[in-house]
Amino acid sequence: MPSKRQIFVGSVPIGGGAPVVVQTMTKTETSNLTATMDQIHKVAEAGADVVRCAVPREQDAEALRTIVAESPIPVIADIHFNHTLALKAIEAGAHAIRLNPGNIGGRDKVAEVAELANLKKVPMRIGVNSGSLPKHLHALEREAPVDALVAAAIEFVELMEGLDFTNFKVSIKSTNVPYTIAANRQLAEKIPYPLHLGITEAGTKWSGALKSAVGLGALLADGVGDTIRVSLSTFHAEEEVKVAWEILKALGLRERGPVLIACPTCGRLQFDMDSVVAEIEQRLEGYEEAVEVAVLGCAVNGIGEASHADFGIAGAKNEGLIFAGGKPLRKVPQAKLVDTLFEEIDKSLDRGTVEVDEAEAQEGAAWLAKIEEENAGDLTPEKIAAMEKEAVEKGESDKVLLDEEASPTVGRRFTRA
Ligand code: SF4
Repeated sequence: MPSKRQIFVGSVPIGGGAPVVVQTMTKTETSNLTATMDQIHKVAEAGADVVRCAVPREQDAEALRTIVAESPIPVIADIHFNHTLALKAIEAGAHAIRLNPGNIGGRDKVAEVAELANLKKVPMRIGVNSGSLPKHLHALEREAPVDALVAAAIEFVELMEGLDFTNFKVSIKSTNVPYTIAANRQLAEKIPYPLHLGITEAGTKWSGALKSAVGLGALLADGVGDTIRVSLSTFHAEEEVKVAWEILKALGLRERGPVLIACPTCGRLQFDMDSVVAEIEQRLEGYEEAVEVAVLGCAVNGIGEASHADFGIAGAKNEGLIFAGGKPLRKVPQAKLVDTLFEEIDKSLDRGTVEVDEAEAQEGAAWLAKIEEENAGDLTPEKIAAMEKEAVEKGESDKVLLDEEASPTVGRRFTRA
């Protein structure tokens, strides 16, 4: 379940049932205002709700004044080791501070930052990293690393509460995905504060995206986590934002822009689906509407499992079908499939409804029926899945049928989006 408490980073609510917040971190030298602002605009356009900037030097804290004033989204100052930079960042107007109470130089210095943050109503993220646990927890870390991470986080929570500071969220980060999952599950049971999720140094765009999807996805599906950052080894911070959104969209937690679904292809594929899917994906990036588009490599299964999509194409050797809402719209030459698909999407978005030409729709339906009939005996992946489902429903198979209504994220789109 989401955290009981809620904080605000600028105008963005985090925790307490608010939509899961997407954040990222600029990769520029913060004091390089041109480069930093350019990246902030890019990540905001990609869908970041808040952005974090590293503040390792005086000039970075100073630059925050301009950055905060010009940024379209709230700005978090990321501080390590030097509490005076935290104080300066708060004075410069940062909407939040990220601080590791274990590396800032002792309780008194944390207290100084907490006092000013309380005065200015600036929230903090307090966090532990698997690589920097306090010394007294090193023995526990060797025996039970997850317990050590949770113990460190609880100690920091108690420290902040002892300083009368409760305007914070908490993060436990590890490069190890199972530890991150287990530690955050435990922590969510023990504290009411919002949780920030991330996999430290996840990796490249490919491996890092997968590790994040597994780690963050497992937690979010359980309702654990109120804000996420996907860490990728790329200078293009907007890539992190795009991956974060794909995770949230896949779980039905938030909606943003189009959803593309595509069949995995098989030996029945009759056209160059790789390049068609890539082109559609790229063209869909220009849309903000939550339109769902399906791409099927052949028409052997009819529209089948893509019938819930708003629009779709089913390809064949020379011709293909455009469909909408599970019904054929028209048959077009293969070379025109993608352009016609986008014409139909644009027209429907302009009008708010799909225009159906009955004669063309009937021609498309007849073409589809002919292909289905010709291939009636083919066992396609979709037909096998449908047969398995039917067998389970009739009690002829003991395979477990996935109950999509019982998904842990069902309904959350509407309560937390
Ligand atoms: S049979 Fe299914 S997986 Fe194979 S190309 Fe056709 S739609 Fe794609």
